[in-house]
Amino acid sequence: MTGGCQCGRVRYSVALASSDAYLCHCRMCQRASGNVAIAFLQVIKADLHWEGEPDWYASSPIARRPFCSTCGTPLGFEYPDGAKIDLTVGSLDDASGLKPTAHFGTEHLNEAWLDTRALPRQRADEYPPLQARWGKSHGS
Ligand SMILES: [Zn+2]
Ligand SMILES: [Zn+2]
Repeated sequence: MTGGCQCGRVRYSVALASSDAYLCHCRMCQRASGNVAIAFLQVIKADLHWEGEPDWYASSPIARRPFCSTCGTPLGFEYPDGAKIDLTVGSLDDASGLKPTAHFGTEHLNEAWLDTRALPRQRADEYPPLQARWGKSHGS
């Protein structure tokens, strides 16, 4: 599988042993992503190849997080001395084959954001104000 950051400076390819992914709800991940949780995919470091080195943030004395300093995309999490690394599911080019199998950091899990299936839905590509902005920007 392949993935990368929003601007494309950092790219990676990885061989997956499993389609299992998980959600981390810990406060460190909430802060690191500015979000309610991070969807992660755990892979063997030796199976991951960076094409364009990521930047690294030492988020604590025991862990560090790869990201892109140009566009800010969070790319993962690792213990520097560990054999595995977590990649952010959203940074994959196609995450459709992955499935969430567990929750971690559940002491900070915000239940209100878990089951959102009943909420109203709106496609971005069918949202008139957004279409108008793109049209104005691109002339069509
Ligand atoms: Zn980037
Ligand atoms: Zn976490």
